[in-house]
Amino acid sequence: MHTPLANEINRESTPLNTRPITPYTLKAPVEADGFSWPSFGARQRAEETPEQEQQRIGRIADAVRTILTEVGEDVTREGILDTPERYAKAMLYFTKGYQTNIRADVLNNAVFEEDHEEMVIVRDIEIYSLCEHHLVPFYGKVHIGYIPNKKVIGLSKLARLAEMYARRLQVQERLSKQIAMALQAILKPMGVAVVIEATHMCMVSRGVEKTGSSTVTSSMLGCFRAHRTREEFLTLLNRR
Ligand SMILES: [Zn+2]
Repeated sequence: MHTPLANEINRESTPLNTRPITPYTLKAPVEADGFSWPSFGARQRAEETPEQEQQRIGRIADAVRTILTEVGEDVTREGILDTPERYAKAMLYFTKGYQTNIRADVLNNAVFEEDHEEMVIVRDIEIYSLCEHHLVPFYGKVHIGYIPNKKVIGLSKLARLAEMYARRLQVQERLSKQIAMALQAILKPMGVAVVIEATHMCMVSRGVEKTGSSTVTSSMLGCFRAHRTREEFLTLLNRR
């Protein structure tokens, strides 16, 4: 079987180009069955039997054996004998966020009516994610702020929401936006602000950028788009 090389792929017809340019603004953050922007095979993964999961692990492990052989390793060497299976399980863990049910697993009835209309901020939520361009980690901190409109969410749920979207193949910009848009849809607050500071292994370990460089992205919705509210949020974030 001939596998097309990268320069032979017709990029005009790849999925991202046939979908709307901003699928995140056109698709509801929470679907009827509780999934949030699931990947192509997320439902299949969520519904598979333990036997089917073992088969999936086996298929990923086979692919990893190919990679190890191609980089010149001996796959029968003791130290890496179990690496393909280990990697397969790790990869499924790193991407488990696609099939997390946002209602049952993340929110779990932790949305409350509350007459509070001041800014709520949770900062320094640690995240570990995978860059979808290189399949290597990026990690850092998420800061989330919102101004309630009669509804608040359990504070620990904000961290779970960030974790859910981080455990996918990501780009940092999209991760910021997905967290903000989901929170906007769940709480219908006055506004939401998400700031992420992260270090990308694909940058710092390949010498593209100096070690220690970090990338900052933000997504501001509703009243946080107004200058004064955004400034207040950023000032509170920087007060340590
Ligand atoms: Zn990368």
